[in-house]
Amino acid sequence: MTDAGRIVVIGAGHNGLTCAAYLARAGREVLVLEAAHQVGGAAVTRELTRGFRVPAVAHLLQLLDPRVQKELDLARHGLALARPALKTVALNPEGEPLVLEGNRIVSGPASAADRAAYPDFIDRMRRYAGVLARQHGRVPPRLAWGSWREALPAGLIALDIRRLGREDMREFLRVVTMPIHDLLEESFESPALKGAIALDAVLGTKLGPRSGNSVFTYLHRLSGESQDPALPRGGMGAVSEALAAAARAAGAEIRLSAPVATLIVVDGCVTGVKLESGEEIGAQAVVSNADPKTTLRTLLGARHLEAEFARRLEHTRSIGTAAKLNLALAGPPQFTGLAPALAGERLLIAPDSGYVDEAFNPAKYRDYSRSPVLEITVPSVADPELAPVGKHVLSAIVQYAPYDLAAGWDNERDAYREILIGVLERHAPGLRKLIVAAEVLTPLDLERQFRMGGGHWHHGEMTIDQFMMLRPVPGAAQYAMPVAGLYLCGAGCHPGGGVMGAAGRNAARVVLEGAPR
Ligand SMILES: Cc1cc2nc3c(=O)[nH]c(=O)nc-3n(C[C@H](O)[C@H](O)[C@H](O)COP(=O)(O)OP(=O)(O)OC[C@H]3O[C@@H](n4cnc5c(N)ncnc54)[C@H](O)[C@@H]3O)c2cc1C
Repeated sequence: MTDAGRIVVIGAGHNGLTCAAYLARAGREVLVLEAAHQVGGAAVTRELTRGFRVPAVAHLLQLLDPRVQKELDLARHGLALARPALKTVALNPEGEPLVLEGNRIVSGPASAADRAAYPDFIDRMRRYAGVLARQHGRVPPRLAWGSWREALPAGLIALDIRRLGREDMREFLRVVTMPIHDLLEESFESPALKGAIALDAVLGTKLGPRSGNSVFTYLHRLSGESQDPALPRGGMGAVSEALAAAARAAGAEIRLSAPVATLIVVDGCVTGVKLESGEEIGAQAVVSNADPKTTLRTLLGARHLEAEFARRLEHTRSIGTAAKLNLALAGPPQFTGLAPALAGERLLIAPDSGYVDEAFNPAKYRDYSRSPVLEITVPSVADPELAPVGKHVLSAIVQYAPYDLAAGWDNERDAYREILIGVLERHAPGLRKLIVAAEVLTPLDLERQFRMGGGHWHHGEMTIDQFMMLRPVPGAAQYAMPVAGLYLCGAGCHPGGGVMGAAGRNAARVVLEGAPR
């Protein structure tokens, strides 16, 4: 490799891998430098204890960009699904759970009126989410246009909204910034249904159902092509492994256990990276999969940024509030009222929207919820190879556990784990006795172990004020950073977080234009 033509990608998260694969396929010399000893970032499968493998952080695949799947031929590189479309089951410790599938209420505590209204509601929300989905593959337009050609992408957004038709367009504009709680109150009456939808709206954000923008975050979650979440065979790490295989097949080199300490800047231009080992590597361009604050404040250094830009970056919101609980179990958990056939589905603890909102309250004041909201999977039901025969792994995302906990996570982690196990025990009596190993990953742990600044799901809140041409900050939303030779390609850029690959794919296009051979 020559420094002149080499492109260095910092981080082998799924977006860094996607970007590397596209760059290598375009004939570029690509070197990926990953701090961890395995690829994937937060999309990773790892051993919890001997013989038990868990999706360590992300567990459900819903947003993966179909173009990435197809163009990089991920199926050929090993990606398969253990379960394509999971049902959603809202657990009910008092009796029958609510079961949702696609746009249908299958069974459980929902009124006849809600059963009739739900399909229309979901179909309408999916149409609105389609407006967001159409932006995923586009580089956000600049806010200041120099020519009509530059103005065109902004016009396309307006056109996408207009194409909804008059009724839908009005309704989309009315609801998009609303709190999901208000939309649920005017749409439904059954608490379990409202709880399940509220959870979808707030998962991974620092919002409650009564917060503005929570309809928008709900639409983001629905903006994937797949109708319902899926379980990759081998856990979420299988997605990253397939992306790494595609990148390597195209000629990219991936170096593990190679943390980058700083960017090298010469005459205001990024010319390479310096590893923590002291090794220096030159490059024509550096693309960072790390979050924007880590990339620009820590790796580049604020001294290379204009003061106003640095101030804007500082004030972006990126306090993670989602934690992870992973369990190795000696047998299958028995959830109250749950038919064995539903044990491998997506299970929720969010009995109503008010419960979710109350769970959010402590997070506002740097405390965690004692009655948290959970999204649970037992992936070993559909994918038995994750655990020894007859045994299981349980993976749960937990809201709300703020990164900036006032009491400090190092003091509270053990107590928090016991609270979470207690909540599960109430829904699945006897579960505690099955536990072989348990791990709780707070947002602080996610930052330490996965280098996600603030432990944030999206590398920065996914709200309208931090979306598209405002993401991560106005003036740097087109993947190229204000310092020449430096690009971003991770969840902190458009179109945000979730295992999508779209940011990596878009960034590669911009890099290829900005750093021609
Ligand atoms: C608790 C939780 C649960 C989630 N569940 C889901 C889910 O079920 N489904 C879903 O779709 N999404 C989920 N997400 C979101 C999803 O995991 C992320 O949005 C996504 O993984 C971000 O991918 P990325 O490639 O942009 O960044 P990351 O996955 O954060 O990868 C960044 C990579 O850069 C590396 N890196 C950083 N700094 C350096 C450095 N200095 N030198 C070298 N390497 C470096 C890191 O080690 C890492 O490998 C969840 C997130 C959280 C926090």
